Amino acid sequence: MAQPEVDLTKKYDAVIIGSGAAGGMAAHVLTTHGLQVLLLEAGKKLDIEKELRSMQWPYDNAHRGALPPDSHSISFNEYTIRRPPYGPGFEKSKNLYSYIGNSDCMKNIVVNERENPFTGTNYAWVRARCLGGKTNIWGRLALRLSDYDFKAKDRDGFGENWPISYSDIAPYYDKVDLYLGITGVKENLPYLPDSLFQRPTKLNCAEVTLQQGLKKMGRVLTQYRAGVTTDGLKHNKYRSRCYGRGACERKGGCDIHAAFDSPTGLIYPAMDTGNLTLRTNSTVREITVDPATGRASGVHFTDSQTMKDYTVRGKVVIVAASTLESARLLLLSKSRLYPNGLANSSGHVGHNFCEHVMGPGVAGQAKDLVGKPSTLDDGRPGGFYLARFRNLTEKNPNFIRGYGFEGGSGSSMFPAGTDQPGFGASFKEEIRKNQGSYIGMGAFGEVLARYENYVDLDPVVKDKWGVPALRFHYKIRRERAQHGQGHEGDGAGDGRGCGLQDYLCERPGPHRRMVDPRTWNRTHGK
Ligand SMILES: Cc1cc2nc3c(=O)[nH]c(=O)nc-3n(C[C@H](O)[C@H](O)[C@H](O)COP(=O)(O)OP(=O)(O)OC[C@H]3O[C@@H](n4cnc5c(N)ncnc54)[C@H](O)[C@@H]3O)c2cc1C
Ligand code: SF4
Repeated sequence: MAQPEVDLTKKYDAVIIGSGAAGGMAAHVLTTHGLQVLLLEAGKKLDIEKELRSMQWPYDNAHRGALPPDSHSISFNEYTIRRPPYGPGFEKSKNLYSYIGNSDCMKNIVVNERENPFTGTNYAWVRARCLGGKTNIWGRLALRLSDYDFKAKDRDGFGENWPISYSDIAPYYDKVDLYLGITGVKENLPYLPDSLFQRPTKLNCAEVTLQQGLKKMGRVLTQYRAGVTTDGLKHNKYRSRCYGRGACERKGGCDIHAAFDSPTGLIYPAMDTGNLTLRTNSTVREITVDPATGRASGVHFTDSQTMKDYTVRGKVVIVAASTLESARLLLLSKSRLYPNGLANSSGHVGHNFCEHVMGPGVAGQAKDLVGKPSTLDDGRPGGFYLARFRNLTEKNPNFIRGYGFEGGSGSSMFPAGTDQPGFGASFKEEIRKNQGSYIGMGAFGEVLARYENYVDLDPVVKDKWGVPALRFHYKIRRERAQHGQGHEGDGAGDGRGCGLQDYLCERPGPHRRMVDPRTWNRTHGK
């Protein structure tokens, strides 16, 4: 694909930092409106089909798909006992990755923790430094927020309402759906608005059984709402429709791009306009400011491979380097006019840091499926989603907000249940007999935004490019319920049936733990 070279003498209409979901969308929208855009990406452009290999059999891969022996991905226990920067204690491993980088397919996508250190409190920070960022590995669950999220303060008194409501943003969700392609089923739930769905995937036997059981309790289990095009996207020649092939969940990627990723979904079509200049291996270290106007004027960046420094100018600078990297860049962009960093007159940059907790999960067995013939359940972009059911009509006295579950069942390439004790022929028979009958799900809940959860710049530690590292001050907190007054706990979960409360209030350390549905799916089938 022909693309213009970066012109350092030119003033671009816009300079975009980062090529993930946000940067890709900005590049697409601006170039289709005729603006001359420069997109700077810190990571490489990977030959992504070769990385993802979703049709590869495990026995065709060295180490059966695991990382090479000189590489290590940080485990749950290691996150618990080690403090960042992660590196000391892992001397035997040349390359060190976050927990998500535990497969051979991820090793060039997620960052090497040694080159990209951070400090402070324990945290499992997953970063993908390559063209497309985390869209290369996302789980593709594509949900809409609702006024239960935007106007949550009206319901429970905690925090602030968003300045927008669902009706403001719904037309934009509709537009995004047409780029993404979303598979799912309409449910007409006010707390989980429907998207413009394409053909849904099918629930399998155990999932339908669970769905029916939950329905009696007034809870809604629906097909996984995946950012995957099942009907195809006529306007995009870089993406194929989903053929339901390959071990979709095994690596998180789709090498025919039925699953949305920023390069094929947004950036390549933007390049076809002739208005986009893309420069990969370009680590932005500072946003420059015009002292006369006080406005952003461009960026300083370093070539990630040659270490050479450059400056480029833009009428507008769009910071789309991901939530935390964007905060880091704003804090790094100190000037006489802005001694606390750019866009930080409020002092809130880096603060109110929150994300979703994930991990607590349950697994069970559909007894009547034991011993039944295997079904072909690989090749689905997801199993099911169990929608939020707490604090919708009632007010739980112990906590505010809510949580949902992702899960699945069925047979997969690597059978479920191999962690049980056993040996030889009888062990294999037992595994075969049970493998399609397991069903499991993992919870995802909201962490409340608090000023005292924040990131700032570490005064000492720097990354490979000499840029100050981010320092975390992050803790999952719990406040006892003050009846009727809000401030009733961090996130969701009451411990009745899902264990989320135990997880939130009692377990220290990084919060991505216990059952990660993607890991769970990898070992237990979808
Ligand atoms: C394993 C995993 C599963 C997920 N599953 C889901 C899911 O099911 N549903 C969902 O909605 N979300 C999911 N997410 C979250 C989702 O992927 C992210 O929210 C989204 O991709 C963020 O987009 P972004 O553009 O803000 O950041 P990113 O995609 O991270 O892109 C930022 C880009 O900026 C680049 N960059 C960073 N610093 C610099 C710099 N200084 N100079 C130049 N470039 C820089 C990075 O290299 C990167 O390419 C998942 C994330 C992960 C990691
Ligand atoms: S099941 Fe669909 S989305 Fe998943 S890897 Fe296969 S084609 Fe891609």
